[in-house]
This record gives sequence, structure tokens and C-alpha cells, in this order.
Amino acid sequence: MPADLHLHSCFSDGTFTPEEIAAEAHRAGLQTIALTDHDTTEGCPRAAAACAALGLECMAAAELTAETDGAEIHLLGYYLDPESAPLRAAFARFQEVRQQRIRDIVAKLNALGVPLPVDRVLALAHCRAPGRPHVARALVEAGLCRNADDAFDRFLKKGKPAWVPKFKMATAEVIRLIHEAGGLAVMAHPGLTRADERIPQLVGEGLDGIECYHTRHSAAATEYYRQVAEHHGVLVTGGSDCHGLSKGKPLIGTVRLPDRDVARLRERFLQRAAGRGFLLAGAPGVTPGLAPPH
Ligand code: AMP
Ligand code: ZN
Ligand code: FE
Ligand code: FE
Repeated sequence: MPADLHLHSCFSDGTFTPEEIAAEAHRAGLQTIALTDHDTTEGCPRAAAACAALGLECMAAAELTAETDGAEIHLLGYYLDPESAPLRAAFARFQEVRQQRIRDIVAKLNALGVPLPVDRVLALAHCRAPGRPHVARALVEAGLCRNADDAFDRFLKKGKPAWVPKFKMATAEVIRLIHEAGGLAVMAHPGLTRADERIPQLVGEGLDGIECYHTRHSAAATEYYRQVAEHHGVLVTGGSDCHGLSKGKPLIGTVRLPDRDVARLRERFLQRAAGRGFLLAGAPGVTPGLAPPH
């Protein structure tokens, strides 16, 4: 049964709780999901528990923002160990940057004469990893914008008057961080990122896969990126990038990664874990209590 490996919850800029995501995934007939909140794995234990109760597999994962030579690259980390100390330290730093960025964005809006209280945005976000979608929702709620697209188009997009740049780590550093946490590093939505020319460099930095299936990829784009992944000998992943309801419906399950690609991802994780000299008890597909290879 297929998988959706790109989902955001209310622990970052999604609107569903982890339990709602699990229930929607079950309803959509999925077998495997990954919760990929921005800069946090906080929601993963709740998602895993809710999924287990429904017979679904849930990978601990996250989406991190990185850059190389000015290009913004989103990297998905799969099978992360949420207890990894370097990962936790990096998340704490990214979350602090996100909270300060919200304050800076709202200060710019206020200077433009848009009367949005920062406390309202932070209350609405109600998480450690707030993002621009929360500012957009607060603007809509206050009747200051028609909808989220209007908020992004008038104020929040790069180059618009309330845009504030975001601190990002280098792609090589983020890939190392994901590997240190026992995870696999995947380039998210290359069709949106438009930095295909960086793919060989990312592969050189240790990239493990490319997100070929995505809501905003056409069938032709998916096939193209499958060929790119094959050319570089990296994994194929995919997901809906669901942030909640879209046109009244959850996106969960509208993009489905074929079983064989899920199996390859899992195998690569298990190989890597074995190579590191340990297996995570209770990790998906791993018999709990399995002894280390030596
Ligand atoms: P941030 O992490 O604060 O930079 O916000 C990035 C998030 O904003 C992305 O994950 C998208 O969910 C959302 N986003 C980006 N551009 C737009 C847009 N034009 N309209 C609506 N949402 C957007
Ligand atoms: Zn998001
Ligand atoms: Fe992204
Ligand atoms: Fe995303």
C-alpha cells in the first residue's frame, strides 16, 4: 500500500493535529506516512502512536531549509533519531530564528500601517516553529487580506514589502546533521525549487534521494526527476506537502509514492543503521531488541 512522505502538522505551519493526520491517512488508504514538520520532530511521537493504533507506519522526519550559493533548498530528513543532540541543538536555533523572523515581519507590516498585533500571530501559530503561513492566516482572520495567497502576494513573498530573509545553514551542513541523526537526506520538491543545476553538488555532499512525486509536480516532472534520481543513483521519494485543507479537502494521499520506492528507502535506512553498528529497536521494519551486528 502506498505512502505519503511529506506532511505538516500544527507543530509547524500545518493545521491538522498529528492524530488528525493519522486518521486522514488511514481514510485515504495509505500504509506509510512521514510527518515532515519544519524544523521540529515534536509531533512525531504523537503521529507514531496514532498511526500504530490504526496499523500504519509513521517515520520520524522533518523539513529543513538550507542554502548553497544563494539558492534556497529544502531538505527532508527521514528516519531521524529525535534524540540526536546535534539535531536538537540545530532545531532549537532554527526555531529561535523563526520566532524572531515573525516579530520582524510583523514589525514591517506595522511600519506599513497594517495593524496586526504580533501576539495574535504567535497565539495563532501556537508552536515553536512558526512560519509565514501563520502571518498570512492572522492577516486573513483580521480581515486585512482576502486569503493566504493575497497575503503572500501583497506582503510576504520574497521581494514584497514585509519579506524578511531567513537564516539558513549550508546544504552540506544540513545533510551532515541529518546523517548524524541516523537519517536519510532528500531534496524536497525540485520542481518548485528550480535549482536542478545544484543536484550534482548535493549528491556529492551526500544527498540520499530526490522527492520526485509532489503536489506541484506534473506527471512529466515526476518522470523527469525519476530519471535524474536514477542517473545519480539516489532514492525516489514523494508526498503531498499537505498543510491542512486545500480547497476544502485534505491533500493527504493525493500524492502516493509507489511501494517499491518506500521499500528501497526503508532498505537504505536499515543498511545505513547496520553500517553505523546499531539498529534502532522499534524502528519500522526492525524487530525490537535485535542485537547490534557485532
Ligand atoms: P517560511 O518557512 O516561513 O519561509 O514559510 C514557507 C511556507 O510558506 C511554505 O512551506 C509554504 O507552505 C508557504 N508558502 C510559500 N509561498 C506561499 C504562497 N505564495 N502562498 C501560500 N503559501 C505559501
Ligand atoms: Zn510549510
Ligand atoms: Fe518545502
Ligand atoms: Fe513542506
